[in-house]
Amino acid sequence: MTEQNGGLAFLPLGGTGEIGMNLNLYRLGETWLAIDCGIGFSGNDTPEAEILVPDPTFIAERKDKLCGLIITHAHEDHIGAVAHVWPLLQCPVYVTPFAGAVLRRKLGEARLLQQVPIHVIPCGGRFEVGPFDLEFIPVTHSVPEAQSVVLRTPEGIVVHTGDWKLDPDPLVGPPTDIKRLKEVGDEGVLALVCDSTNVMKPGASQSEAEVRRSMTDLISGMKGRIAVTCFASNVARVETIAMAAQAAGRTVVLVGRSLRNLDVAARECGYLSGVLPFLSEQDVNDVPDNQLVMIITGSQGEPRSALSRISLDMHPNVSLGEGDTVIYSSRMIPGNERAIMAVQDNLSRRGVTVITDREAFVHVSGHATAGDVSTMYDLVRPKYAVPVHGEWRHLTAHAALAQEKHIAPILLEDGDILRLAPGKVEVVDTAPSGRLALDAGRLLPMNGGVLAARRKMLFNGVVIASFAVDDEGFVIGEPKVSAPGLLDPDDLESVRVREEFANAIDVIPDELRSDDQAFRDAAKTALRRALGRKLQKRPLVDVHVLRV
Ligand SMILES: [Zn+2]
Repeated sequence: MTEQNGGLAFLPLGGTGEIGMNLNLYRLGETWLAIDCGIGFSGNDTPEAEILVPDPTFIAERKDKLCGLIITHAHEDHIGAVAHVWPLLQCPVYVTPFAGAVLRRKLGEARLLQQVPIHVIPCGGRFEVGPFDLEFIPVTHSVPEAQSVVLRTPEGIVVHTGDWKLDPDPLVGPPTDIKRLKEVGDEGVLALVCDSTNVMKPGASQSEAEVRRSMTDLISGMKGRIAVTCFASNVARVETIAMAAQAAGRTVVLVGRSLRNLDVAARECGYLSGVLPFLSEQDVNDVPDNQLVMIITGSQGEPRSALSRISLDMHPNVSLGEGDTVIYSSRMIPGNERAIMAVQDNLSRRGVTVITDREAFVHVSGHATAGDVSTMYDLVRPKYAVPVHGEWRHLTAHAALAQEKHIAPILLEDGDILRLAPGKVEVVDTAPSGRLALDAGRLLPMNGGVLAARRKMLFNGVVIASFAVDDEGFVIGEPKVSAPGLLDPDDLESVRVREEFANAIDVIPDELRSDDQAFRDAAKTALRRALGRKLQKRPLVDVHVLRV
């Protein structure tokens, strides 16, 4: 590996070529620094796994050389994997106050709060971690306290933007610190590692203040119950909805656990101070319909969310129907379209009016548009542009934009080790990278045995046979065959399979019966044969032989 070579290098282990699961590594000399550690939500391509984390094996194997983990902001795709991956990394974690409040709750749930050393750095703070001289620069994003990170090293300066946008009037928190970015640019920047999510949108970003005006107009003209769904961590948006509700004389109720958690974290850090305390969902039915606004989780169609359950009329406290309105103050994250549409369909069926950002101006992105990114290059003036945090079409569009600004773009895949200095800036090596599935608290490799079996069961079903044998290996009683997800127990085909299997194990040669493994393998072959060609599938097959 290249770490013996010294110098400065960048290695993304997640977040390039796909959205989500950010895990970025920098190496100075022999010391590594991590920036962000997030989860991704599985799309339709991996139904066997719901939550994905970047495979941290490469850095876990070098954890004695890892000096710290910096969190740029409190979004799940930047902070969500810390509680799952930290036991493999065991390094100090650096956060702003708000990200710290969010992280402490997650670590508490994972029973790790006492183990993880958390250092809270003020927004815009300067601090040292190992050999890295670091500075946070506040940027606007759809969560409070997002920070870009400046890495000052003897080999040069790197600016790692994290997620950001330009908004002269973000309403919660300061605007992106343009002055400071320009000052860092004056120092001479080697590379800008920059968010690509929204770079395909031309022009400059729209402001949260414009959303607030539009939302206030919209809500003031409505009758019936109103529910607005947005990301819980978008504190500015939650404030926008609350202010719009207050202006219309409506009371605000929070519905959904993640909103309640984020409300606590936000108020703990001094946010939402101009907003009355929210009522809880148990109070919904005490408020007249025309005086109610609910802020509700479920904007991405998550099946267990409050909004999904309301759309099926299965929520214990809240129902919506004819004359009520649901406003989606959020975007559709790619991969979630079908789930979101299903919820919207169910709401429409109940007579609920659904308003999205297609019908009204109820959302702006938290990510930089092409105009914003162009301004960032004017401010920071790096020698090299490294687009990250986007799918390939975003990364290539970002690279083209950099080229127009006469800045050399470098496109990386997850796992590419980019030497930044000294010498030629180029990919010098590849680190193993990939995705792990978070499955009931365990991390499982996506291409490992457990999930391979899960995939096979999901599409081809599973057949399990068991039977008892005596000392000499002769079958006692009737074998049992079950095929959940494949055959009903009283299906005629189940009966046929069991009978054919019983006949087949009777004729297994005697010499195979004394050895458990050989007997089991022969019985598995017999079971596969008994399933026959009629099923036209090759299910996962297992046999239990019990010696009694
Ligand atoms: Zn973000």
